[in-house]
Amino acid sequence: MLAATAAVLAQPLTAQAGFVAEYPAVQSTQAARAREWLMEGRQLDGMAAGLNSWIRMPRRVALRMVECPSSDIRWNQAERAVEICYRMATRLYGIAAEQDSLRRAASGAHLFMTFHGVAHAIIAELNLSVGADVEGAVDELTALMLATAHDGGFPLWILGGVSTIHDADPQWGSWAYATEHGLGPERFRKVACLVYGADAEGFSELRTAGLVPAGARQRCRAAALRSVDVWSPRLGARLR
Ligand SMILES: [Zn+2]
Repeated sequence: MLAATAAVLAQPLTAQAGFVAEYPAVQSTQAARAREWLMEGRQLDGMAAGLNSWIRMPRRVALRMVECPSSDIRWNQAERAVEICYRMATRLYGIAAEQDSLRRAASGAHLFMTFHGVAHAIIAELNLSVGADVEGAVDELTALMLATAHDGGFPLWILGGVSTIHDADPQWGSWAYATEHGLGPERFRKVACLVYGADAEGFSELRTAGLVPAGARQRCRAAALRSVDVWSPRLGARLR
């Protein structure tokens, strides 16, 4: 037993499969400040641990904070890294300024976008055939991940964060993970509906917070069941 443990510990970290948070060194002062703050908060590390307890990935996948010119996330297939631009974090927290409630919303929105990148990573790494509408599949998988939370406060934090930041800065949708990842209100409503439909009782706060419309329960329930039917065989034995 001890020998086996020693053998595992002797392996370089890069050899271990699963999600891992990475904060490579940065150049700019602004990114350096954000890096220090994000490393201290360990939010990304917690997310990696949560994902690893949910799904077994065949290889190592980095959740990597990087300096980039856009306020974006991207899936780097060659390096198997979900790259999250510091600029996105600093802009989100810039909207929040010193207001505590907005800062919490900003962190929720930041995690939401990281989940989006993770969904791209899972689809690519597990070689899932999702058809031409990859972004649609990413939305469904994002909803599925949020719905696995046992605590209804978690999806409320994440989805409420996106909604609050949208309200605080109507321009957000045009710069937040722009390009093909752009999340318009329609896509956001679909994700919120799928999460709510997965457990309308457990996630009733999504309804009371106005993130899903009144009377949407049956429709969201049906959509969530369809989604589970599609995704269960896709993820299959990979789920823990
Ligand atoms: Zn995308």
